Amino acid sequence: MNDCIFCRIIKGEIPSKKVYEDDLIVAIEDIAPKAPLHLLLIPKQHFSNCLDMQKQHEATVGHVFRIAGKLATERGLSEGGFRLVQNNGEAAGQSVFHLHIHLLAGRELQWPPG
Ligand code: AMP
Repeated sequence: MNDCIFCRIIKGEIPSKKVYEDDLIVAIEDIAPKAPLHLLLIPKQHFSNCLDMQKQHEATVGHVFRIAGKLATERGLSEGGFRLVQNNGEAAGQSVFHLHIHLLAGRELQWPPG
């Protein structure tokens, strides 16, 4: 989508700090990190959130989870624990309507989240 900031990042039209890319997803550093490690794992296919998800997206979302574990492990942050977060809708804190999963690590994470 032309007006989607994450689609534009994926196309290289907007700069980002990319830490991982394959055929299905990219992972970038969040521009406003909420933890020492704050990555966004973003499917290359555009869909807004869980409510917009189709059967064809399932494999990609599963792939995101596996790669998130790999990225945390590579950074030595898996043993200390890390969190994956995905917001659905403005009331839940979603500000970019292209599905993405936050990977947060490197500090103590409170539960429940605010
Ligand atoms: P959410 O609020 O769950 O939709 O998450 C959107 C995230 O995207 C926020 O954590 C923002 O800081 C992040 N973000 C917005 N624009 C950019 C950008 N150009 N590069 C990297 N991260 C961004």
